[in-house]
Amino acid sequence: MSKEKTEGQKLAEQLLYKTPHAANGNEELNQAAAEFCEGYKTFLDNGKTERDVTSYTVKLLEENGYVPFVPGTAYAPGAKVYVNNRAKSVIAATVGQKPLTEGVHMNIAHTDAPRLDIKPNPLYENSELALFKTHYYGGIRKYQWVATPLALHGVICKADGTRVNVCIGEEEGDPVFCITDLLPHLSAEQNERKLSEGVKGEELNIVVGSLPYADEEVKDRVKLLAMKLLHDKYGITEKDFISAELEAVPACKAKDVGFDRGLIGAYGHDDRVDAYPALIAEMETVLPPYTTVCVLTDKEEIGSEGVTGLNSMYVFHFIQQLCAGQGADSILCFQHSKCLSADVTAAYDPTFPSAFEAQNSTYVGKGVAISKYTGSRGKGGSNDASAELMSYFTRVFDAAGAAWQIGELGKVDQGGGGTVAKYVASHDIDTLDVGVPVLSMHSPFELVAKIDVYMAYKAFKAFNESAE
Ligand code: MN
Ligand code: MN
Repeated sequence: MSKEKTEGQKLAEQLLYKTPHAANGNEELNQAAAEFCEGYKTFLDNGKTERDVTSYTVKLLEENGYVPFVPGTAYAPGAKVYVNNRAKSVIAATVGQKPLTEGVHMNIAHTDAPRLDIKPNPLYENSELALFKTHYYGGIRKYQWVATPLALHGVICKADGTRVNVCIGEEEGDPVFCITDLLPHLSAEQNERKLSEGVKGEELNIVVGSLPYADEEVKDRVKLLAMKLLHDKYGITEKDFISAELEAVPACKAKDVGFDRGLIGAYGHDDRVDAYPALIAEMETVLPPYTTVCVLTDKEEIGSEGVTGLNSMYVFHFIQQLCAGQGADSILCFQHSKCLSADVTAAYDPTFPSAFEAQNSTYVGKGVAISKYTGSRGKGGSNDASAELMSYFTRVFDAAGAAWQIGELGKVDQGGGGTVAKYVASHDIDTLDVGVPVLSMHSPFELVAKIDVYMAYKAFKAFNESAE
């Protein structure tokens, strides 16, 4: 028999707020999360770059009855359409029962991730090795990217304008690529550098070849053999690197982590860990009250610039065109719309507690995280959702059993980061930051909790199905 609760214990239960673990020992919930995450791991392995995610997503959308959006069409409630924006970002929508003048419900995540881009003149030979020069994309801690297997993904547009897809290092038996680091025996000088300069940007050179071409009359024979092999396989010449987008990413596949398999370790959780749940929630949406719009966008990691980033008009043009098809005023639509700007946040790391403020941190396993604001130096660059919007979303999530927690990214003035939220809010759309907490964010092997991924899915689904 449990002891009866004291008055103080009862009062504490009534008045004080605590966030429990999202599964809290509920085996059924853990099982559902584990099953959901099997699809997520496949999504990760098929989506190492924004182009890969976009083509895989379009395939899933078509399998689930989505058709390419045709501007000027008056779509009926329940219609499912998608837009493929330049093979790098995708919009999927299900037309709702309410008129578009009452607004849409948007879930937006990004699918680009920090990586090493190959420079326009990348290939050179030095000391019998062929190497690629790189320029890193997004925020990375450079020392984490050396001495680890890398795969090459991307496209090359050839002189005749045709495009070839490149993917080397993912299939069993494929070669991989690698950046070298000094041995401890000779690192005395390098050890004196600050950690941020432990490996410098111009030292991120990828080894791509080591055998010389069999003709002693030519110079740079290792480079020539590498170029010949590329020409044999893709029909390209060195000049074609100029019209290429090649990205070096970690060659590792997604793995379960821990004895209990409660975590997933992978490259690029940021932000596919929100993109996948948002996409599944969108695909499962049938005849929603409000039109649902799911956006998997590009370029977030470098400030959402460019035609495939959220600072471009592509998403808002789509909504305007959707409205035009119904003869609806798109300004009214924007004014009444709501958006979950989904992006990962930093999970409290017990090994590095000094970077966090424990009471306002988010934790692995406590559900999907909400951030009222992001930014740095006094919320700079933040959307800062209103109290009213916080109330709306927490009620929607609670009603659906989507476990959530609230926090901010690290201590005040420790650093910080932004999201796409402000680019949505600038169109007069109420926006809240939400996302799965991540350990080792932006590293080649990030960690998330399966239960948090599942709760993100429940949150997006609840929002899609909400009639409020
Ligand atoms: Mn992100
Ligand atoms: Mn990021």
